[in-house]
Amino acid sequence: MSALSAMLERGEISSVELIQCFLDRIDRSQELNAFITVDAEGALTQAQSADRSRANGHAGALTGLPIAHKDIFCSRGLKTTCGSRMLEDFVSPYDATVVERLADTGTVLVGKTNMDEFAMGSSTETSWFGPARNPWSRSRVAGGSSGGSAAAVAARLVPVATGTDTGGSIRQPAAFCGLTGLKPSYGRVSRYGMIAYASSLDQGGPIAQSAEDAALLLQAMAGFDPRDATSLDKEVPDYTSALKQPVAGLTIGLPKEFFDSSVDESVRYASHAALAEFEKLGARLTDISLPNSAAGIPCFYVIAPAEASSNLSRFDGVRYGYRTESYRDLNEMYEKTRAEGFGIEVKRRIMIGTFALSAGYYDAYYRKAQQIRQIIADDFREAFRHCDYIAGPTSPTTAFALGEKTNDPVSMYLSDIFTITANLAGIPAISIPVGFDNTGLPIGLQLTGQSFDEPGLLKLAHRYQQVTDWHRHLPKDFS
Ligand code: GLN
Repeated sequence: MSALSAMLERGEISSVELIQCFLDRIDRSQELNAFITVDAEGALTQAQSADRSRANGHAGALTGLPIAHKDIFCSRGLKTTCGSRMLEDFVSPYDATVVERLADTGTVLVGKTNMDEFAMGSSTETSWFGPARNPWSRSRVAGGSSGGSAAAVAARLVPVATGTDTGGSIRQPAAFCGLTGLKPSYGRVSRYGMIAYASSLDQGGPIAQSAEDAALLLQAMAGFDPRDATSLDKEVPDYTSALKQPVAGLTIGLPKEFFDSSVDESVRYASHAALAEFEKLGARLTDISLPNSAAGIPCFYVIAPAEASSNLSRFDGVRYGYRTESYRDLNEMYEKTRAEGFGIEVKRRIMIGTFALSAGYYDAYYRKAQQIRQIIADDFREAFRHCDYIAGPTSPTTAFALGEKTNDPVSMYLSDIFTITANLAGIPAISIPVGFDNTGLPIGLQLTGQSFDEPGLLKLAHRYQQVTDWHRHLPKDFS
């Protein structure tokens, strides 16, 4: 991104020309299905205004650069579908805080990216608009739920995009597409206008080519928002200057649970090779344990559906979105609207969540899951007494084939086994590209830090990217 920004600054290219160039690329890459909406006209108008700001001496690091937002962020005047038939034609009357803040920095919104329906999934295959494809191999998934954003950045249809992460939806697609994806600490980025899936777990964050770009994007996204009661009133550090800090003297913990036999050989190998680089940079590696991490998936699949069942009750055909064509009475209108408007995975979650919260089962499931969530957070707290950061594979495998897991929800859920615990604990984690498997698919390494230590994670990622070039590789048809 800094190269594009420098070209704009030197006047070698105008923002209008730059945006047109990316729009042409998007047009040529429609088979990836990375976008749900492309707003060429709006983007060119924004680009003209970015060029005027620059001419008047009001340009920042992001002014005039294209960006795409996951279609979960409300954007005024543009469709916001959340990957669902329920919101297929929904046009938001207001902007999400993230959208607003990025517009204020002068970024040009070129479109909204494909995603799993209501962010429920790990492959973008639950999207009402069809799956996104992985630019590294079009028969493979791009990951999910922010698969459209990851596919778009990997194919260089945009230099950066936003995503959201409830259990891994920024990091896993970043890993599958060879990108840098950061899930910030809970409360760091405003959720206002970000359609809620599981409110106590959801966080927005950047999907980028490098840690440097992720830092720039996070800088614009992060910060207190009085309109979101869960956003924290805590100063936002300078993420770019944090990149320059040294790695020497830091301790990285390797949880034995993250390197077990469920992990592909190639993923394990690349993770260890990356960790050896960190050692060369002066970090010390130490073995640790997160003994209850196996409980993360079952715990998540009680809490997330419970919150989702409540959040999704607003989609009833009355307020906004889809309404069934014909009905005899109000109840039938609700029933048919929800039966037709939601896809199968969303219905599964609503049923599980409603069940887990129902009288008589609340204590057995929901309360128990909350207790386990606490234990998982305590495991991290204990681990951070022995190390500064925790590292392991982002996902046990590289990108799987389209259709491979669609009939087996549990195996789909397991692709988030290493990412989900950071959401349960509310702590930040980043995925960075660390190599390729023998079929040429990217591999991601996850680094996890303590609450609000995004600067530390970005620094580790950046230092690694200064001595390696995995993040510079391009899928062959998109160079
Ligand atoms: N794959 C997980 C789910 O389906 C997490 C998705 C996410 O992070 N939004 O719920």
